Amino acid sequence: VAKSQGRHCFRFFTRAMQDDALLHMVLASDLRHALGAGQLTLHYQPIVDLAGGRVRKAEALLRWLHPTRGQIPPSQFIPIAEETGLINPIGAWVMRQAIAQVVDWKQRLGVELQISVNKSPVQFLADQHQQEDWLILLEQLGLSGSDIVVEITEGVLMDNDMRVAARLLEYRDLGVQVAIDDFGTGYSSLSYLKKLDVDFLKIDQSFTRNLAPDSHDLSLCEAIVVMAHKLGIQVIAEGVETEAQRDLLRQINCDFAQGYLFAKAQPALEFERLFLKPAPAR
Ligand code: C2E
Ligand code: MG
Ligand code: MG
Ligand code: MG
Repeated sequence: VAKSQGRHCFRFFTRAMQDDALLHMVLASDLRHALGAGQLTLHYQPIVDLAGGRVRKAEALLRWLHPTRGQIPPSQFIPIAEETGLINPIGAWVMRQAIAQVVDWKQRLGVELQISVNKSPVQFLADQHQQEDWLILLEQLGLSGSDIVVEITEGVLMDNDMRVAARLLEYRDLGVQVAIDDFGTGYSSLSYLKKLDVDFLKIDQSFTRNLAPDSHDLSLCEAIVVMAHKLGIQVIAEGVETEAQRDLLRQINCDFAQGYLFAKAQPALEFERLFLKPAPAR
């Protein structure tokens, strides 16, 4: 019995693995056409100023509406984009799209919103000449680089130190700000904070999820805020879902918060309606 069960399990796993590999191949092939077919869009999640409650920042998050499979989460298709190199054209599109959106909101609504875009480690070193493209784009549109924040993870900072540092300096020259995403989850040493001029730390959701008075997580968050402020860095807490979490973060002087408490990532028009239009006079 054990033997047949064992074989059964084995077959089950190989089947699952085959299905995974197959889906992976199908998605890789479909992703090739997704950009051209208009299936990729950016959604925007507000980042709230904890002292004033205002929304002057948002994070742009990619969404893929697959024609037959529906929404595919970034956690599933970003790794595929990285493996296939598609992350480079997609990443370039994300940047252009985000810049165009900043300009649109500025010109049409007179709102100054800072938008952050994510860059995976693979993209980060690959997009050499893209920098010049943005510079031209930013100048043509009358924007300053500080309307854009680039979010990178600590993983970017672990290897290729020199090239990464050089690339970050190029951003700085454009005036583009830099945020360390998922802060606290990587294994890199903190010494990069001394060497590199970053503007924001984003505390990972795994630290904010269980925030409670007198918890270790609260002590950790507070220590991060104190350290960051001493280094002239502002802190954004990710994954804020409750008012209790928000209040604790405010008490420890965290600068900004982002999470479902305020809103999920929204299509541009919906974001605009919710956060950028003045409330109608009554
Ligand atoms: P991230 O940059 O850390 O983005 C935050 C993720 O947390 C988003 O997931 C967001 O929807 C989710 N989130 C926000 N607030 C809450 C909350 O209160 N609770 C919970 N449980 N989750 C919350 P999303 O949109 O699925 O994106 C996942 C990851 O995919 C991102 O993590 C980022 O690493 C990557 N990604 C998304 N868009 C892009 C892109 O344009 N380029 C690249 N390279 N990566 C991207
Ligand atoms: Mg991010
Ligand atoms: Mg994050
Ligand atoms: Mg700074």
